[in-house]
Amino acid sequence: MSFFSEIAHEFSSQNTQFWNYTKDSLKHPALKNVYYAVLLAYLFCFFLEVVLPKQRKHGVMSRKYFWQDTFYVLFNDLLLNVLGFFALCAVTEFVLLKFLLLFDIHSLKVTDITHLNPLLQILIMFILQDFCEYVAHIFLHRSNFFWEFHKIHHAQEELGAASTRHFHWVEMLVFKPLIYIPFALIGYSAVDYFLFQITVQNVWGFFTHTNIKVRWGWLNYIFNTPETHAWHHAKNIDKKYGVNFASILNIWDLMFGHFYLPKGKQPILGVEGGKEVPNTFIGQFFYPFKKHFGKKK
Ligand SMILES: [Zn+2]
Ligand SMILES: [Zn+2]
Repeated sequence: MSFFSEIAHEFSSQNTQFWNYTKDSLKHPALKNVYYAVLLAYLFCFFLEVVLPKQRKHGVMSRKYFWQDTFYVLFNDLLLNVLGFFALCAVTEFVLLKFLLLFDIHSLKVTDITHLNPLLQILIMFILQDFCEYVAHIFLHRSNFFWEFHKIHHAQEELGAASTRHFHWVEMLVFKPLIYIPFALIGYSAVDYFLFQITVQNVWGFFTHTNIKVRWGWLNYIFNTPETHAWHHAKNIDKKYGVNFASILNIWDLMFGHFYLPKGKQPILGVEGGKEVPNTFIGQFFYPFKKHFGKKK
């Protein structure tokens, strides 16, 4: 089998596995089933937005992008994975392993922590994933190329739980397989990574984008909350590349000097140049490509 047909074979077998997993999960509603657990978390945040709204100029469902964001959730969390984004994690591992074989290295694992106490494993995966997401997020802001993709997430001027999934698919295409690699190094499969990523990071993402009037006090100095993440989406700050990049642990921002939570000031949501981002899903789909490769005026 040639190298490329091996890749195609790996992609298709991983994708079939994922497709079967998704079909089976959707057919059998249960809390331990990842899709239904995520749906329940979303509904909980939706309920909080109804009873404790912060930005009152719009209702929960009359928020500008409410329906588009609902579509983004299905597109980014379900459709893209079924179409093969999930399989790309395993393919990246496969290609890397092929490369390492040139140096007579037969496994990507540098250690295997899957035999440790489950709570300890969860803690290690949690810290590893959150730090990798943090680094990737800073990169999305610092790289001129990737910023045009990430700007779509920041062009929103009103936030609600599903706003967390309002981002360009290229972010997933590039960063998910890269963030999977450290997981492979310590013994996890692409499926383990997917389950952990979607239940922990995605659920927390719903929470941090929720439009609720709650003060989080000292918790802001440990966890990313709707209060601290609103400043990540603010345009009335004087830091060129932004502030508060953490997904879950604000400890990273405190450690690296990116934490920002002023007293007596309110964030104005949006971003410089955000008005040039189209309002439609299709417009947003093509926007970064046109920006980079379209004819310059
Ligand atoms: Zn950002
Ligand atoms: Zn956000």
